[in-house]
Amino acid sequence: MLNRQGRPTTPGTSVTAAHLTFTGNKALAQIEPLIFETGRLDVTGVDYAAPKPFKSRLGGLERKSEIGLPGLSEPEAMRHYVRLSQKNYGIDTGLFPLGSCTMKHNPRLNEKIARMAGFGDVHPLQPVSTVQGALEVMHTLSHWLMELTGMDAVALSPKAGAHGELCGMMAIKAAIAAKGESATRNVVLVPDSAHGTNPATAALIHFAVKAVPVRDDGTVDPKVVAELAGPDTAAIMLTNPNTCGLFERDVVAIADAIHAAGGYFYADGANFNAIVGKTRPGDLGVDAMHINLHKTFSTPHGGGGPGAGPVVLSERLAPFAPVPFVRHTDEGFELVEDTDQAAQHGAHAFGRMTAFHGQMGMYVRALAYMLSHGADGLRQASEDAVLNANYIREGLADLMSLPFGNRPCMHEVLFDDAWLKDTGITTLDFAKAMIDEGYHPMTVYFPLVVHGAMLIEPTESESRASLDLFIATLRDLAFSVQRGETERFTGAPYHAPVKRMDETRAARSPVLKYTPPEPILDAAE
Ligand SMILES: *Cc1c(COP(=O)(O)O)cnc(C)c1O
Repeated sequence: MLNRQGRPTTPGTSVTAAHLTFTGNKALAQIEPLIFETGRLDVTGVDYAAPKPFKSRLGGLERKSEIGLPGLSEPEAMRHYVRLSQKNYGIDTGLFPLGSCTMKHNPRLNEKIARMAGFGDVHPLQPVSTVQGALEVMHTLSHWLMELTGMDAVALSPKAGAHGELCGMMAIKAAIAAKGESATRNVVLVPDSAHGTNPATAALIHFAVKAVPVRDDGTVDPKVVAELAGPDTAAIMLTNPNTCGLFERDVVAIADAIHAAGGYFYADGANFNAIVGKTRPGDLGVDAMHINLHKTFSTPHGGGGPGAGPVVLSERLAPFAPVPFVRHTDEGFELVEDTDQAAQHGAHAFGRMTAFHGQMGMYVRALAYMLSHGADGLRQASEDAVLNANYIREGLADLMSLPFGNRPCMHEVLFDDAWLKDTGITTLDFAKAMIDEGYHPMTVYFPLVVHGAMLIEPTESESRASLDLFIATLRDLAFSVQRGETERFTGAPYHAPVKRMDETRAARSPVLKYTPPEPILDAAE
């Protein structure tokens, strides 16, 4: 008999090594094997009477082998899933400094409202007369999104930021086609610092992608844009604040250069969190921008729920917005569901992005967040996001290196690995050591324009005490680097249930299917 770590359970063996326990558990932290390993494939947790003899109507399609589901008692099944849930690290368990992702606090109020029966149980095929409240939520949310961005229209249905990018770029493509310029206008400019989804989106709908080099201060030079833009330019895709955590100060000049060349300005709005209530993208010359409700308006994401990526459109692009959209008429709210119907309202919808209407639950959460904060509260959330990131920048700038000098950042602060030079410790090692300290690491190696990037985005709702502890922890780690305590980093994490992983192999050849041990395979055949 062997225990879970392969130690023999015969008398004479004892648990002596400091890190080993007989069970593999660490105090009250339970290790949790796969459910297939916990349960037994040859027993069942429920008692069904054997079926009476019956004649199969499956025409020879019936299963020939065992289904292979593990049998567990009810408490075992419950413990399995509760223990798995305890292995989650999220914004509800601790500070989550992932940059470019905006892990916002998800107020329970949002959850409560989203679970109200009228919202939670609504069905997309219900007659419109029975979902007037839900449509009003969509209409009101649209109003707020247009108000906050200074834009003319909004397409709510895209289901994530990347999906929103696709929607906005398809609207741009449709506008170009309407002008009869499809054959010639097919290049999209994308800065080096852009999120990978930007060039991928442009390429997906057959635009050629031309890279815009970022200047030394981490921002885009409008002169370079003007040089690169021409009669073949369909659009520029620009993130502002950009992925280096910096506001593109020349954004208006960039918009002018693109417009002068006859192209459109697509803004990646994933970082809208930093500027809500401060700046309206519409005033900066933006033609289309997606908003990640799951980043900016507090709806959960990252395994916690679906995203939602509504796209706001300028007056020029508004007619091309996809269906469906909500209209408010004297008789109430109506859904314009197809392109012919849209044409009756003077729109040239390019089609639809998705079945039905998008992520209703996210709309409700986002609107609950907006209404509970009010205009001043939303502005303060942005100000606090920027303040918190700069507080961290100040707290670490003497130890860690800032690639673009010590200028203030927006809602996230970017360090590079110059300060780790010749220490034998990499950005990855440093991030792994943070796990031992109980922190989810920040975003690493992105953006690519910076060597060994560490992109830290605290959340605006973190208290000063929580930020102080985070800073103190990173300082302690940095001092450890200076003292040459390489081991603390190169083998980290030491305290996590799973140690250093081969991440390349995990990504390239993931094992997604449980393979039963041989004897069980045999028995099932
Ligand atoms: C998150 C992000 C995206 C993509 O958004 P998803 O909702 O993850 O699809 C695009 N651009 C930037 C800058 C982002 O941070």
